[in-house]
Amino acid sequence: MKITLTPQDDVSCGWFHLSKPRKPKPSHEGTSAARWVVVGAGFTGLAAARQLAVHYPNDEIILIEAQVVGYGASGRNAGFAIDLPHDIGAEDYIGDIEIAKKTLKLNTMGQTIIKDLTRQYSIDCQLRESGKYQGAVEPRGIAVLDAYRRGLDKLGQNYEMIEEADLPGHLGTTFYKKAIFSPGTVLLQPSALVKGLADSLPDNVTLYENTLITDVEYGQKIVLSHQSGKIIADKLVLANNAFGMGFGFLKGRMLPVFTYGSLTRVLSEEEQSRLAGKSFWGLTPADPFGSTIRRTADNRIFVRNSFSFNRDGKSHEKYLQRFVRRHRESYERRFPMLSGVEFDYTWGGSLSLSRNHMGHFGELRPNVYGALCCNGLGVTRGTVTGTLLADWLAGQRNEMIDFLLKSNGPNANPPEPFLSIGVNATLMWSQFRAGKES
Ligand SMILES: Cc1cc2nc3c(=O)[nH]c(=O)nc-3n(C[C@H](O)[C@H](O)[C@H](O)COP(=O)(O)OP(=O)(O)OC[C@H]3O[C@@H](n4cnc5c(N)ncnc54)[C@H](O)[C@@H]3O)c2cc1C
Repeated sequence: MKITLTPQDDVSCGWFHLSKPRKPKPSHEGTSAARWVVVGAGFTGLAAARQLAVHYPNDEIILIEAQVVGYGASGRNAGFAIDLPHDIGAEDYIGDIEIAKKTLKLNTMGQTIIKDLTRQYSIDCQLRESGKYQGAVEPRGIAVLDAYRRGLDKLGQNYEMIEEADLPGHLGTTFYKKAIFSPGTVLLQPSALVKGLADSLPDNVTLYENTLITDVEYGQKIVLSHQSGKIIADKLVLANNAFGMGFGFLKGRMLPVFTYGSLTRVLSEEEQSRLAGKSFWGLTPADPFGSTIRRTADNRIFVRNSFSFNRDGKSHEKYLQRFVRRHRESYERRFPMLSGVEFDYTWGGSLSLSRNHMGHFGELRPNVYGALCCNGLGVTRGTVTGTLLADWLAGQRNEMIDFLLKSNGPNANPPEPFLSIGVNATLMWSQFRAGKES
């Protein structure tokens, strides 16, 4: 079967270029065979390969990446490793309390894995247990925060409500009217983290980069072909998010949606004192179509907003050009005291979304397994589901594995052309409705 949905990210991801360069591992050539093959070296695939290697120290685990590590979505995100559940379909954003408690436990496990590995291998990825703000500007956003506060009470979680007058002391800007500060989020430089994770893999993991799988045949064994050879697997683990559809699974259930980030140059000391507030923070928007903002460890401002439905899974220049203008407007609204500070980088990256916000965990067909569809939360979710998938493949069962196996998975989307029309109209309308929050 030919794989047509393949990744091709833009060249301008700031996190990738600003993190320590590393020498990519050679691409695969010729014919190899292995008991375990993992496709995709983002958070999910790196975690799955690492954990399979622990369970099967005598087996070679082959990990294949189409691009170089740190260049795909796992190196392009906003760097929020979030602990709290946030169910945008529920009235109080927490919804079913039992599901919310398990989600919190899963996310916290993901954070713990990341923190332990960064400590163990001294991965310098600007990781800070800083918490995060969720900020609102308009009455609709403030109502979201009030509802979420009730949800957090129900879940028994700590938070602090911060009013307009106090927010500049935290963020510098007077833009926000209200925020919830929740202490459990970890912020990090995502590309530096995934590069570090790739360079600290166990010896029995063989990573091939710049190796795009273009063909797959399912039989007694699974044959994965690319332009310079093939890899024959007894068991295949798909950890390539929406690109899993290209391998014939969850077709019409995952949406390859892109979102976009920009990073300014480093602020001068004088600009930093003009901005004031804390020296390191991150904020997510009350409206999911609003802007995520960070002040980074190296004193840059990061802005993320805007979505596009890239059905082919590839980056498109027209969106970068369109959305850098929106980033500029969002930046100027928030930071008039730092007007005109240039963006050094603007980039996009793919998310895999499903209509019911569910992911897939477990078997896809005999000897093919997947942890797919991170719904924009892959830093913690991908890390923990990749790890638990390997545990399950090694025969383990526990409360968290059972919870993931029981999930209904992503539900079906309408067929084309209704899907594209519907998704594009929803994205446009939701971005418009976000108003000043964008
Ligand atoms: C701008 C932006 C901001 C975001 N912010 C956050 C955030 O703050 N927090 C958060 O948790 N999440 C965030 N996300 C989402 C997060 O990046 C994803 O959920 C996460 O990257 C998913 O990880 P993954 O390992 O499952 O998939 P990916 O990171 O997409 O990794 C899959 C890999 O598979 C490779 N691949 C695909 N097809 C093939 C093939 N045929 N052959 C070989 N290799 C293949 C790809 O190149 C890719 O590297 C954001 C995303 C973007 C774009």
